[in-house]
Amino acid sequence: MRQRVIVVGAAGRMGRRLVHGIMMAPDLVLAGAVEHPDCPALGQDAGLLAGAGLSGVAVTASLAPLLAQADAVIDFSLGEVVANARAAVAAGCAIVIGTTALDDLAKAELKRLGQAGGRLVLAPNMSIGVNLLFKVVAEVAQILGEDYDVEIVEMHHRHKKDAPSGTAVGLARAIASARGVAYDEHAVHGRAGLVGERSRSEIGMHAVRGGDVVGDHTVIFATDGERLELTHRASGRDTFAFGALRAVRFLAQAQPGLYDLQDVLGLR
Ligand code: NAD
Repeated sequence: MRQRVIVVGAAGRMGRRLVHGIMMAPDLVLAGAVEHPDCPALGQDAGLLAGAGLSGVAVTASLAPLLAQADAVIDFSLGEVVANARAAVAAGCAIVIGTTALDDLAKAELKRLGQAGGRLVLAPNMSIGVNLLFKVVAEVAQILGEDYDVEIVEMHHRHKKDAPSGTAVGLARAIASARGVAYDEHAVHGRAGLVGERSRSEIGMHAVRGGDVVGDHTVIFATDGERLELTHRASGRDTFAFGALRAVRFLAQAQPGLYDLQDVLGLR
């Protein structure tokens, strides 16, 4: 039987690609499209909005009434992500969350929901290449050790609201954890003025914004005489949408818990 999936943030850049991906997938069906109450797309057909043809699903402003007729929710909105997760779990729906810049309190609540019987995936970047990069940078950091300075440079389109990107933070956390140090104590965000020499243990974070760049991340390991640069470039949003759809399929078979894309892709 096809899984019935609701998209929250359905008129957004990611939301439209998710609606498109669901409509093209033979094993999934669009069960709802939710947007902000002020969104001009309310009432429109979500499939037409996504350029995928008529879906018969109108964009509406409330998630709750849709949950009884759904198996899973995908949330890439800038809205009430935690409240949506609570509602989805209470209704027995799985939920895949791609929204970035969630605070620690929100992440703790999502973990609690996983322990309380919910099935959730939370990932700041759903692309397969980036999730492989998370694994690779941790291994490289471990092998190279503290002799190599680590700097992370990310670039995104001019509309991105949060910085540094959730992916850059994820990469830095993977490196910090491989080095056995805390990310919060070692991350240095940009440099300006007379900041002094770089310490060996810091992880430099640099956010570049401009144009329509979907998402570039470079991790630089530099020492005397050489530097190693590992780069991932997303050339379209479908890579994130495909990852989110894989997460929906994974959760259909999963035990309760809060997972990430490493779990979905079997990279642990
Ligand atoms: P966007 O601004 O184009 O879309 C966000 C949508 O959410 C908008 O249409 C907005 O109206 C809607 N929204 C806001 N409040 C809402 C509410 N209360 N209820 C329902 N909908 C609401 O942004 P985007 O580029 O699509 O990115 C959305 C989020 O996804 C950001 O946090 C971004 O960083 C993240 N993102 C994650 C990944 C990933 O792989 N995890 C990839 C790309 C983007």
